[in-house]
Amino acid sequence: MTLQHDADVVQYLMMEKTDLKALTREEIEAFMKGAGLPQFRTRQLIHWIYERLARSIEGITEFSKQMRDDLSEEAYISNLDLIERQTSTDGTEKYLFGLEDGETIESVLISEDDRLTLCISTQVGCALGCVFCQTGRLGLKRSLRPHEIVDQVIAVNRLMLPARVTNIVMMGMGEPLANAEAVIEALWRMTKLLQIPPRRITVSTAGIVPGIRLLGENAPPVNLAISLNATTDSVRNALMPINKTYPIRKIIEACKAFPLQTRRRIMFEYVLLNGVNDTLEDAKRLRRLLQGIPAKINLIPFNPCEGSEFDRPDEKRVLEFQKILMDADILTMVRKSKGQDILAACGQLQAKYDTMSDSCF
Ligand code: SAH
Ligand code: SF4
Repeated sequence: MTLQHDADVVQYLMMEKTDLKALTREEIEAFMKGAGLPQFRTRQLIHWIYERLARSIEGITEFSKQMRDDLSEEAYISNLDLIERQTSTDGTEKYLFGLEDGETIESVLISEDDRLTLCISTQVGCALGCVFCQTGRLGLKRSLRPHEIVDQVIAVNRLMLPARVTNIVMMGMGEPLANAEAVIEALWRMTKLLQIPPRRITVSTAGIVPGIRLLGENAPPVNLAISLNATTDSVRNALMPINKTYPIRKIIEACKAFPLQTRRRIMFEYVLLNGVNDTLEDAKRLRRLLQGIPAKINLIPFNPCEGSEFDRPDEKRVLEFQKILMDADILTMVRKSKGQDILAACGQLQAKYDTMSDSCF
């Protein structure tokens, strides 16, 4: 490799250094051991990255100057770059973060009473191409690495000091279970290193069946949300092409097999599209489909985005739809949009706000 420009040299040096934030606890331990440092230094380092939110090795003042200099020769701590922060009149905040390779992702924070729920991204874009979704239109640029998923929480914690994010929903850009390995590792880091209880974390999926299984087997006991959005395969195939691979019946089977903690329920998200999936027959079919599953439903009247071919049903229809489900004793919420003024350009982001506050028990 020939280095021709200063920028290349900087890039090269960065590549050579270890990003401490990208490591698992075990890898940090091995790294510190390799640097001749005793075990308690690992604990301190983790404390400074995840609790004290240190931006750099230089900022870890519990380490001597010499130790920081030595560590900095070999390692660094990466940080998301906060490119933009928008605050809505209702207090909802949206952040645009830059990644080390220049890609960008969005996260959204909803405050409600003493609950701070952060909606995070798991991919840059999404490959699944659901026809009503803004992110789907972008296509997939790349999946996020575990630390890029977790760092959204660290970055927002820093902005909220002394408060902390209390709840997490993976309903931002991307399909979490199309990036299952990284998402599961990120979930472990959130629960073990950031100490967020698993019951306050929700993973939302368009229904990638093997991913649901992996999540149930390998992740901490977080909540599962399924974006169902239709009650027949023909409608769902048209809205969510992934349904051709994993049809409704398979998703329902995977939900029945999903290990649920006592008193917890699977959340079913249902984006209501006027004249497409909002008939009272749909509500009855939905009721039947969920029989035997500890379920709750989030009805999300569609948030129109620019150039979209859909719109939302009127309020009367939404309430009739809800009543059929409530009469069958299924807890059914209708979500109101939050942060509409700052999110007007992005229907998808609005949708996740809608669902987030209730997805976290
Ligand atoms: N890929 C995952 C998580 C991100 S999408 C999933 O599909 O579950 C988060 C939620 O936003 C999904 O339930 C999706 O159906 C919904 N959604 C997407 N675009 C929307 C829109 N324009 N209006 C309302 N909800 C939308
Ligand atoms: Fe991807 Fe979810 Fe949007 Fe479908 S709804 S395109 S799975 S982000």
